[in-house]
This record gives sequence, C-alpha cells and structure tokens, in this order.
Amino acid sequence: MSARDGLDGEDWQRLVLATADAIDEQAAELSRLDAAGGDGDHGVNVATAMGHARRETTDLDDPTPAAVLSVTARAFLDEMGGAAGALFGSFFRAVGRSFNGHTAIDAAQLADALEAGTETVISRGKAEPGDKTMVDALVPAAAAGRAAAEADSSIVDALGRIATAAREGASSTSTMTPSIGRARYSEDRSLGVQDPGATTVALILEAWAAASDDRSKS
Ligand code: ADP
Ligand code: MG
Repeated sequence: MSARDGLDGEDWQRLVLATADAIDEQAAELSRLDAAGGDGDHGVNVATAMGHARRETTDLDDPTPAAVLSVTARAFLDEMGGAAGALFGSFFRAVGRSFNGHTAIDAAQLADALEAGTETVISRGKAEPGDKTMVDALVPAAAAGRAAAEADSSIVDALGRIATAAREGASSTSTMTPSIGRARYSEDRSLGVQDPGATTVALILEAWAAASDDRSKS
C-alpha cells in the first residue's frame, strides 16, 4: 500500500480544519434550519465546538488519526452541550477509538469507524432512521463507506461516496416529521425543512471528502 492509500494524522488535522471552515460558513443556515423545529441554536453550537476542535487539533504534538479525532470529540462533549453535543461527541470518540493504533486510515478502517460511530449515536440517542435526526445522514453514510471498502476503493473515492450518501440522507429529512429531540414538539413547523443535525453530518463528511481530494491532487 502506498502512503496515498491512507490518511495520516496530519491529513486528519487538515480534514478537521476544513470542517471548521465549512461549519463557520454554514452556521447561520444551520441555525435557520433549527429555528423551524427547534430553538435555532444548532449552527452556533456546532461552530463553537468546531472552533475549539480547530485550536486543539492544531496544538497536538503527535497528531495521530486517533488523537485528532479524540480531541475533536472532547470539543463537542465539553463545549457544545445539549443533545447534539453529546451525540456528536460520542460519534467522534467512537471514530477515534476505532482509529486507535493506525498511523494511516484506509477505506476499510474508515468503514469500521463510521459504523462504530453510527452505532454509538443510535444506542445513545435511541433515534431510528425516519425520525428526522442526524441518524438519517449517518446510516446511509456508513453503508456507503462499507460498500466502498468492499469495492476496494481508495480512501478519497470512499469519502466521495460517503459524502454523497450523507447529503442525500440529509435532503431526505425535509419530508419527515420529527418524533425525537426538541423538534418533536413542533412537528408541523419543520415539515419541508431539513433536519439541522443531519445537515451538519453532511457538511462534515463533504468537508472531509473535499479536503482528502485536495491532497490526492497535490
Ligand atoms: P438542541 O436540540 O439541544 O438545541 P441542537 O440544536 O444543537 O441541540 O441539535 C439538534 C439536532 O440534534 C437535531 O437536528 C437532531 O439531528 C439531533 N438530535 C437531537 N436528539 C437526537 C437523538 N435522540 N438522536 C439523534 N439525533 C438527535
Ligand atoms: Mg437547537
């Protein structure tokens, strides 16, 4: 395997910085989506957590893939709060644990990590596909990751397929009515509007895909 087949710790640092940029750019839109069914704070919440993650990952002395994801997890668990902070935090923590011991992450390791992260979110949050939550983006993303690994895709191709599946999953939430989380109290208002948490999942995975692809061209 050449080094290009896997994303090492410095690559993951770059992926996290690209994610922080993408979230900053879309924070107002994410809060607008949250205002339809929830309390309108989602964009600010995620941008705050990603701002911490940006600083903490840059400061790492030994940025292994696991260390970068673990620091990102802490930023969500410690700085975000609310239902989504704990769920995104446990997602990144499970991904980081799955990366443990690997100097570079290939498509198969990423598939394992996304499955572990998605399972953690489902077991903690108890949402199922169709409940209009981040789970509706995570489940198809993890399935696309597994399919890409089984097709022996490169990590860059795998991330492209994962990001596309997450975006489709997020889009599909606009016709769903929420049955879990804050938005369930105002299910009519959020009809026709995408779930903010699912949209954040798509933004994160799209940022990972774009940043990994930059690297393949450099
Ligand atoms: P809060 O609802 O505490 O204000 P945010 O606005 O930051 O938190 O996040 C809202 C998002 O959290 C929702 O769009 C949804 O995707 C996600 N979410 C909330 N509860 C759950 C749950 N039990 N399982 C999965 N995702 C959830
Ligand atoms: Mg909210």
